Amino acid sequence: MSKSKSSESVKVVVRCRPMNEKERAAKFERVVSVDVKLGQIIVRNPREASASELRKVFTFDSVYDWNSKQIDLYDETFRPLVDSVLSGFNGTIFAYGQTGTGKTYTMEGVRNDPERRGVIPNSFEHIFTHISRSQNQQYLVRAAYLEIYQEEIRDLLSKDQVHRLELREKPDTGVYVKDLLSFVTKSVQEIEHVMNVGNQNRSVGSTNMNEHSSRSHAIFVITVECSELGVDGENHIRVGKLNLVDLAGSERQTKTGAKGERLKEATKINLSLSALGNVISALVDGRSSHIPYRDSKLTRLLQDSLGGNARTVMVANIGPASYNVEETLTTLRYSNRAKNIKNKPRINEDPKDALLRGFQEEIARLKEQLQKRSGKKKRRGQRRRAGEGSDSEDLEEGETEDDAEDGDYWREQQEKLERERKAIMDDHSLVAEERVRLLREKEKKMEDLKREREAGEMLAAKVKAMESKLLVGGKNIVDHTNEQQRMLELKRQEIAEQKRREREMQQQVENRDEETLELKETYSSLQQEVDIKTKKLKKLFAKLQAVKAEIHDIQEAHINDRQDLEQIQNELTRDLKLKHLIIENFIPLEEKNKVVNRAYFDDEDECWKMKPITRIEDDHQMMTRPLSAVGYRRPLSHHARMAMMMRPEMRYKAENIIMLDMDLPARTTKEYQEPVIAPKVAAALEDALRDEDEIEVDASGFRSSLGPSPSTSASGSLKKPKSGRPRTGKKSSTPTSPFSPSSPGSPLYPKCRGLVPK
Ligand code: ADP
Ligand code: MG
Repeated sequence: MSKSKSSESVKVVVRCRPMNEKERAAKFERVVSVDVKLGQIIVRNPREASASELRKVFTFDSVYDWNSKQIDLYDETFRPLVDSVLSGFNGTIFAYGQTGTGKTYTMEGVRNDPERRGVIPNSFEHIFTHISRSQNQQYLVRAAYLEIYQEEIRDLLSKDQVHRLELREKPDTGVYVKDLLSFVTKSVQEIEHVMNVGNQNRSVGSTNMNEHSSRSHAIFVITVECSELGVDGENHIRVGKLNLVDLAGSERQTKTGAKGERLKEATKINLSLSALGNVISALVDGRSSHIPYRDSKLTRLLQDSLGGNARTVMVANIGPASYNVEETLTTLRYSNRAKNIKNKPRINEDPKDALLRGFQEEIARLKEQLQKRSGKKKRRGQRRRAGEGSDSEDLEEGETEDDAEDGDYWREQQEKLERERKAIMDDHSLVAEERVRLLREKEKKMEDLKREREAGEMLAAKVKAMESKLLVGGKNIVDHTNEQQRMLELKRQEIAEQKRREREMQQQVENRDEETLELKETYSSLQQEVDIKTKKLKKLFAKLQAVKAEIHDIQEAHINDRQDLEQIQNELTRDLKLKHLIIENFIPLEEKNKVVNRAYFDDEDECWKMKPITRIEDDHQMMTRPLSAVGYRRPLSHHARMAMMMRPEMRYKAENIIMLDMDLPARTTKEYQEPVIAPKVAAALEDALRDEDEIEVDASGFRSSLGPSPSTSASGSLKKPKSGRPRTGKKSSTPTSPFSPSSPGSPLYPKCRGLVPK
């Protein structure tokens, strides 16, 4: 069931931070002026000297200058929102703006300084004070903390900081983060602790905290469930969820020159932010039927807050210095658009996912169990006591009375058992065995008694623990200071409301002034009419110029955006082409087809996934385990299986080792063999190595052998010249050579020794 309300706009406030030290030191010009009364931000263009006419004026629900206090913002802008969360609406606070303009200061502020605490700590205080003052209501408060970085969701409260969470959607409860931890908190300290843990985790994961926080979105979620007896006599539960969002820095991420991973990073970092911008544009446009919530994690998660059923406040943070003027204008335009988003807030009454209902039911169940236990026990006790002459039939007793009696009962039982044990010990008439048996029995009974008692106590503790999580107010309602504080708050709220009304009226007056001026005026002369009309014309002309300049600026911004997008597109197209090229040239067609067939797009997770490999008829993709391997680590041969059966105790089983014969390397060397010398060569060598004195010169046969002997040509070698060759020492007295000079019938001169080719 839900109570609907008419639509209301997203509330947009602008906060300008003071000049910081550096800016003051560098004497930067202040280009932003803030008209708190009128709710206007006026930005001068520092480049144009005669810029007084080309000022840009933006009007918002409220604006805060550098003197604004955290508590002012809270009382005027955030308190009403948190109040509506306490009464069951969903609420969201966004902090938007360039890095260093005070988003984190606005959301968290300086934690230890009560003056400079931001919205988050102030809302803790607010929520728990509200609960303590409530009457006849039960509350359950829980907190979760997550971060979106590069389109990945990280649970900042989880121990496992590596794990990434997924978004899921349920038709009845909408989009939620699966497995996001949320902690039930019972006091300001507890919820502060939760925030601190999250903040620590946020900085742990990053090397450069500043850069990281400027590129990631942090969302702190407080869920307040309230149960109250309705007029129909039934308990009704209202659930309000408060999203406190510290967005990533809105400055343009540099994409130029980025490639590969860095490009991907650059495109992903601000994806959520640009998707947020697109969602806002689409919502404001009115013509587009499709709102691109699904384009990013952030917009999906906060779908309710933009054009949905939540109440939303956007704080646009800007810097005052001249060098920030571009980003300041972008921020102002962005938030100016967001003003026109219409939401339809409604109270979440008795939603299905209320935890409180479950808690209450569990407590009731446990209590019933406890009741039954004590009922049983009491009946036993009563039976016993009836015999002793006591009479008490009443089962419905007060808690304290019950407790006291509880203790008595256990004590009585124990004492009784103890007495009985003693009696057995003292009873000498019993046989030893019998006594031991009886004693054991008694001991067992005592044991049982103890166990039963412990179980009862555990149950009671559980009930207590669960009940302690549910907060009930009304304790300090008579507290005097509390009452005063409350009055003070009310007054402050009234003042804030007054201020707001005043501002609205001022704005209206301003608008009407211009419209009605003309009607009232009567002119005494033609000249006067001309003068006045000229003046008016000038004014209008200036306005026209301003609007023209604005249009021009916006167009320029669009062109820039488009160029950026085109650049990204080009890079991505190139990337895609490269991948295609690789696939076409290096991946076998068969493999490619397998992957293509298995790939599918998961709508839930919004990414491509692979179907598991399954055996399909005529599809041999699947590599099933061979039948022979069932029960074994790998296929076994028949022999191995037989061997296992024969010798089951074998230490090395065939399935555990692979036996292979050693592969001996092939020989590459040979035995040494003396070279075989032809007999001719051997003889010649022999000759050549013979000593000179062994050569006998016999001239007698010279003449006879002169004619036919061909060796005359070698007559020059009549005497062997002395050579330095070592002598072999072999003196062959019986030369084997047929040419041996000493052979019978040798010519007068020795023959050539065969060194000169014949
Ligand atoms: P962001 O979160 O937008 O990057 P921070 O919140 O970290 O910016 O603010 C940057 C610095 O400016 C911080 O040192 C903060 O204390 C200071 N600052 C921002 N806004 C204000 C303000 N309204 N008053 C005083 N100091 C501020
Ligand atoms: Mg920050």
